[in-house]
Amino acid sequence: MRVRSEDDVGGIGMDMKMGMAGRSDEVAGVSSVRNHSSNGLTDILVNEVLHGVDGTDIKCGVIGEIGCSWPMMESERKVLQATAAAQIQLGCPVIIHPGRNSDSPFHIIRTLQEAGADISKTVMSHLDRTILEQHKLLEFAKLGSYLEYDLFGTEMLNYALCPEVDLPCDIERIHRIRLLVEEGYGDNVLMAHDIHTKNRLTKYGGHGYSHILTNIVPEMKRRGLTQPSIDKILVDNPKRWLTFK
Ligand SMILES: [Zn+2]
Repeated sequence: MRVRSEDDVGGIGMDMKMGMAGRSDEVAGVSSVRNHSSNGLTDILVNEVLHGVDGTDIKCGVIGEIGCSWPMMESERKVLQATAAAQIQLGCPVIIHPGRNSDSPFHIIRTLQEAGADISKTVMSHLDRTILEQHKLLEFAKLGSYLEYDLFGTEMLNYALCPEVDLPCDIERIHRIRLLVEEGYGDNVLMAHDIHTKNRLTKYGGHGYSHILTNIVPEMKRRGLTQPSIDKILVDNPKRWLTFK
């Protein structure tokens, strides 16, 4: 991992995130999850929030994404427990990348809860491709995490990472968000683009980072979402999540 300074991105403020993936056996620059105890992993996470990453004084504002697969591996459970312990100490925001199975987000929240994590400070990302059944989504919403639809701009017939998933299009994502708002979960919804490849950038023919504001918000309004409910999703909810307790 290379840490970039604000100068590298033209003075734009960035929120530094740190991730751990039990499966890929990597801890942001540290060789192996397996070689660390849960307490050792917690110390790494806490240090990167309080003091800095990779020998710099650039501190992480968020723990995550914490990557999980399905079924959950033992090393992933250890990372989740370490994350919970760090979150208890710091009151910091956490974001989780669930496995590609609709039971995975439930299992992750249970694991975090048992380890004492604050679920109200936790984002479950990639719900677009993870929980497709409406009743199961509403069941999951009851658990109290943030509910993130973050594949806006990704519309594909064959979702190569999991071909049996009917990946929703942007309009279907909007319908899911409207359902959650109508069911009283407007304070929990988050949206993002998950841009991590060049072809998603405008320079290479993609939608770019303005896609949600330019193209999606007007469609949300056309489909009955009010400006206050959109402001909650785009401004209030991220602000609350990113604030340390
Ligand atoms: Zn992810």
